[in-house]
Amino acid sequence: MNHGTKDYYQILGVSEDASKEAIKRSYRKLAKQYHPDKNPGNQVAEDRFNEINEANQVLGNPEKRKQYDMLRQGGFSGGFDPSMFQDLFRGGGGPVGGFGSLGGLGGLGGLGTIFESMFGGSDPFRENLRGQRGGGSRRPQEQIADLEIPFLVSARGGKTRLKVQREEICSDCDGSGAATPDDVQTCVACGGQGVVEQSQGSFVTNSRCFGCGGLGKVINRSCESCQRRGRISKTVTLEVEIPNGIASGQKIRVRGQGRLEPGESERGDLFIRVSVASHPTFRRRGDDIESDLALSPEEAQEGTTRTVETLRGPIELAIPPSSENGSLLRARGCGIVRGSKQGDHLFRIRIR
Ligand SMILES: [Zn+2]
Ligand SMILES: [Zn+2]
Repeated sequence: MNHGTKDYYQILGVSEDASKEAIKRSYRKLAKQYHPDKNPGNQVAEDRFNEINEANQVLGNPEKRKQYDMLRQGGFSGGFDPSMFQDLFRGGGGPVGGFGSLGGLGGLGGLGTIFESMFGGSDPFRENLRGQRGGGSRRPQEQIADLEIPFLVSARGGKTRLKVQREEICSDCDGSGAATPDDVQTCVACGGQGVVEQSQGSFVTNSRCFGCGGLGKVINRSCESCQRRGRISKTVTLEVEIPNGIASGQKIRVRGQGRLEPGESERGDLFIRVSVASHPTFRRRGDDIESDLALSPEEAQEGTTRTVETLRGPIELAIPPSSENGSLLRARGCGIVRGSKQGDHLFRIRIR
């Protein structure tokens, strides 16, 4: 009862106690039969050919075969906790990386190779595993993009554009990855469930189907545009609303514009990490804006009026007599406006 694992014996059409020679014979016969040169353009044959090779890599190697047999029979005794193994099957600890953490497995050190060849068979499976690494505690599906914005946009708010390269659902196959809808077939190994029941001794557990990588479907002929990935990498331009008063290092959350995780149909959120470019004359002090105001000694002594630039546009600023170098003149409410709070514009007098 091991329909959870790819049955390499079945793939090569040999019995479980087949000799090395019998395996080799069968492999050669099948490899010849399904060789891509003999079946040009036949995706089914190609997949079969790959499967045959994969099976031979394991069964044709005595060490790997021994480990594979143990795996099939769930015969891990000697202190091995089967539940850990189940986690690996589900990709809970990451496809192969998880082995490092198992420590103390001694003779089982070579298992990684088997898993690699099993997992490596089909791309969607790998993708799937990557997406679900971490088991129950899935990584938050957020993507961070960096964006430099002009000072005035940060202070006043506004719209800006951001180019992001990202995965889009392939429009030629609507994301199925198949050449035609008929090329998508229900996985026979799991009946489309994506999971199979697996018994190990007295344990019966569900684990991800090896036949389809948990997708429940298999693809016969691939979509030419996306090569069965169902997605295509594209550069898109997003229009981003910048809230006024944003400062360097702060992030803007754009819902539903983030990464499209494998196996998901909806995007996660995109976080835009902002850095604010400096302004030739304005400096930010909290919600206040500061800039220098150059006066001649006479103007500072006698007082005058000047047209000065603020976030709100030009204003008339009255400079009182006897203004001192370095002192500040405050234009109320001309700084950054956030809700009901209004910053000021501070003019630092520079006598030249
Ligand atoms: Zn399946
Ligand atoms: Zn496609």
